[in-house]
Amino acid sequence: MILIESKTRKGSLIYKNHEHKVVAVCCPKCSEIVDVREVNMRDRICKPCKNEYKKLHYRKNKERYKHLHKKYQEEHKDTIQLYHKNWKLENKDRVLENRDKYNKQNAKRLCEKSKEWLRNNKDKRAKISRKYTQANKDKINASKRVRRKKSPFKEVRTDWRIDKTLPHVQYFMKDTLALKRKIKELNYGKSATDHFTLDHIIPLKHPQVCGLNIPCNYQILTRKQNSFKNNSFDGTYNNDSWHDAYKKLSIIND
Ligand SMILES: [Zn+2]
Repeated sequence: MILIESKTRKGSLIYKNHEHKVVAVCCPKCSEIVDVREVNMRDRICKPCKNEYKKLHYRKNKERYKHLHKKYQEEHKDTIQLYHKNWKLENKDRVLENRDKYNKQNAKRLCEKSKEWLRNNKDKRAKISRKYTQANKDKINASKRVRRKKSPFKEVRTDWRIDKTLPHVQYFMKDTLALKRKIKELNYGKSATDHFTLDHIIPLKHPQVCGLNIPCNYQILTRKQNSFKNNSFDGTYNNDSWHDAYKKLSIIND
């Protein structure tokens, strides 16, 4: 194909075919002859050169661009919000997929962040959980019932709220309250991780055994010890064989 070379008024070189249509342009930046479809016709620069120019211009006028972007966002706040909302509704699968991906990639950071928030907003957290419990009482009770039914463990519930005037109930309560008071004293001023807790020597929930909620089945353990012991049972009344394993573990960890 024979191309006719000619110059525009601004001095840039263009190439026309036999029908006098512009088919190629000489890019004034890189001096390459480029197909007219690959050219930005406003200033007749090839697309890579235009992109390079845009990048440079953005870098030079970063603050101005930022300001313009902010201004635009403020002026079109409602439209933008509506657009995002609609997009999310139309692309639910993609939203879920992206969220999963993000959560997996940032699992550690998100966990730390939420822990920190919980630590700093104890009052807020308590308020939220209280509100939720009050609003979903039936739901919570139903799920508790289901869990109890499904559980392979048997549990004997000694509920003293039935009649506190009974002499044997009072006897048990006195000792239990004294123990609880002692724990409160021990925990005073300590961080939650170093707290002492009330443990059942014979576990309440176990496939083979069922301890009771009575003072002679209570012992004071640290939170770490309690979570290590969990509901283990060695078949003895003292049920203290977990001590050795715990000691070994703490030596390794120290
Ligand atoms: Zn170019």
